[in-house]
Amino acid sequence: MPELPEVETITRTLRGGGRDEPSIVGKTVQGAHVYWMRTLTTPSMPTFTKKIIGQKVKDVSRRGKFILLQFQKEYLLFHLRMSGDLKVEPYLDSKGCKIPVQKHDRLILDFTDGNRLVFNDTRKFGRAWLVATPQTILGNLGPEPLDPTLTPVIFHKMLTSRSRQLKPLLLDQKFLAGLGNIYTDEALHFAKLHPLMNSEDVSLEQAQTLLKAIRSVLREGIKRNGASIDWVFRGGDFQNHFRVYQCTGEPCPVCKTPIQRIVIGQRSTHFCPVCQPEPEKQSF
Ligand SMILES: [Zn+2]
Repeated sequence: MPELPEVETITRTLRGGGRDEPSIVGKTVQGAHVYWMRTLTTPSMPTFTKKIIGQKVKDVSRRGKFILLQFQKEYLLFHLRMSGDLKVEPYLDSKGCKIPVQKHDRLILDFTDGNRLVFNDTRKFGRAWLVATPQTILGNLGPEPLDPTLTPVIFHKMLTSRSRQLKPLLLDQKFLAGLGNIYTDEALHFAKLHPLMNSEDVSLEQAQTLLKAIRSVLREGIKRNGASIDWVFRGGDFQNHFRVYQCTGEPCPVCKTPIQRIVIGQRSTHFCPVCQPEPEKQSF
């Protein structure tokens, strides 16, 4: 499931080009096609087509795990969920014939320059919204973990004003935007905090360490173009650098104790029982 670094990698590619794909900034929409109706949450397809054709992409950005395409009059938002992917490809072959769409292509925008933006989504959980203001969809999201205005003191207050286990709290997009299972497990190991620790017991020093750990694993993930596991994300190699995620039974990179796996809120959680002692065994 794509998390902040994977979504950021796709956003950067759409904005600046890369992976043999051109940037979509400055491109004008010539045609719009929706092949799986539930992909487009709002508006209806006729309205969507009418509104988006003729509009130019002004910018591409990310908020949490959402990708935002800013058009002249509206924003087109995508959430990739389990298996969504966005790529840019030519829609005509060398003979000028239209290249057929792929089996799992759900929504396509044709640009006037001969390229198309393709939203491909095998498992069909991904969603798109065309809205006048992105806040209508993004209003409930917590702060961006890499935003420098999120200080350790603010983060500490956020943690201690709630009374929840760290793992599900960090996964809650209303608390902090962008983290998923991989980067949460990696950050908690880095910070030496047990995933079941109650957030109200986190000290200022631990909050500072945890924020630093979250930023460190996210930056490392972005640097490696994300992790290519469980879904169709192409090109990233962060999966080769996991310290605990899906490393059950393998030695902890710090103390060599075998990594353990537990299930918290139906999510697999990986941790080192020595580096991340259970809350009641901790000395603070
Ligand atoms: Zn360890």
